[in-house]
Amino acid sequence: MKLWVTPEGDRWLCDECQKQYEKVIEEEKWRVAFEKWEPMLRCSECQHTDIEPLD
Ligand SMILES: [Zn+2]
Repeated sequence: MKLWVTPEGDRWLCDECQKQYEKVIEEEKWRVAFEKWEPMLRCSECQHTDIEPLD
């Protein structure tokens, strides 16, 4: 998961949501603060984690 610095504050985005936001990222000049692999992190868009839940 990447932490993006946006005009409205920092937000975590997963790779899937990053694709959806590509245009906004470009237009608003978002930048990646850092990337972290952490099961507790949730994407602020889809609320999913980086790691698939196990049954
Ligand atoms: Zn997401």
